[in-house]
Amino acid sequence: MRVLLTGGAGYIGAHTAVALIEAGHDVIIVDDLSGTSAEAVARIETITGAAVPLLVADVRDEAAVAGFVAEHAPVDAVIHLAGLKAVGESMAEPVRYYDVNLGTTIALLKVMDTAGIRSLVFSSSATVYGTPEQLPLTEESPTGIDLANPYGKTKRIIEEILSDAAAADPGLAVVSLRYFNPVGAHTSGLIGEDPNGIPNNLMPFVSRVAIGSLEQVAVFGDDYDTPDGTGLRDYIHVSDLAAGHVAALEHAASGYAVYNLGTGEPVSVLDLIAAFERASGRSIPQVIVARRPGDVAASYADPAKAQRELGWTADLSIDDACRDYWNWQTQNPDGYPRG
Ligand code: UDP
Repeated sequence: MRVLLTGGAGYIGAHTAVALIEAGHDVIIVDDLSGTSAEAVARIETITGAAVPLLVADVRDEAAVAGFVAEHAPVDAVIHLAGLKAVGESMAEPVRYYDVNLGTTIALLKVMDTAGIRSLVFSSSATVYGTPEQLPLTEESPTGIDLANPYGKTKRIIEEILSDAAAADPGLAVVSLRYFNPVGAHTSGLIGEDPNGIPNNLMPFVSRVAIGSLEQVAVFGDDYDTPDGTGLRDYIHVSDLAAGHVAALEHAASGYAVYNLGTGEPVSVLDLIAAFERASGRSIPQVIVARRPGDVAASYADPAKAQRELGWTADLSIDDACRDYWNWQTQNPDGYPRG
């Protein structure tokens, strides 16, 4: 298949591009490079030996994306990863989040319709569940419980839009993948996560402390109702996540489907820091601070549906993820070179 990857130069996109190419597919990428660098695409090419055409554009620019798709016709499927993803930022700038995340999706659906592309995989998030009523989370768990942040709401609204689009058009195959917490990096150390500024997420923050560019990790609360009092999450290696996209694409059938992509294994903040200390051989200073507003105590997947229907499971451990993240970090202490 030839696959259009929106946001394909980003963290999850670059790993998905590599996985697609290694599975025998062709990849073309549209990315506005607002959260990454063209170097990521060069490195996808280095890892795979394949040429990967890149259009630097905002996906809301329908004419540009349609032109790119026509130039590379036939395009068989789209994986839509372009979007804004910082929870805190979405509280400060909700309109921008709705504009970009919904706008890119709607523009893309229109381009797909015109070009006759019948298959779409969307990057959703376990955030859509809000505060879990029961764990582990299954795809039938209610969504939107106390969901306060615009980022999560955009993902939930997009899922509704996609479900409506699939219901109205029997030829359309749409899959939403609800990611748990992506971590790790490609084993080559050539591609990885490259956050702008000070990271918000735990593993990139811990890694910066290990390498000495940040002083200490603030652990957001140790008074949760969890075994060690710190938050539990389901950290999934980005290469496993990438493989989940390939499986979803290859199994996509007409209609709308949703899958959790997680390991099913809850890991605490303290567990993750300890795993990173082992992987890096560095000691990681840490301090307990107040809970971060909006955080849930625990969130982890029941990944059985993806295993049953897509034949996919997460194979890599938190130790693998820390090793690979550290390898990426030490080889690229300042992320991708920016030109
Ligand atoms: N966390 C933390 N310190 C940090 C960043 C995160 O203690 O500097 C905790 C956070 O409270 C949560 C877990 O680490 O329990 C994962 O947070 P992250 O922001 O990576 O992902 P989230 O699950 O919030 O999307």
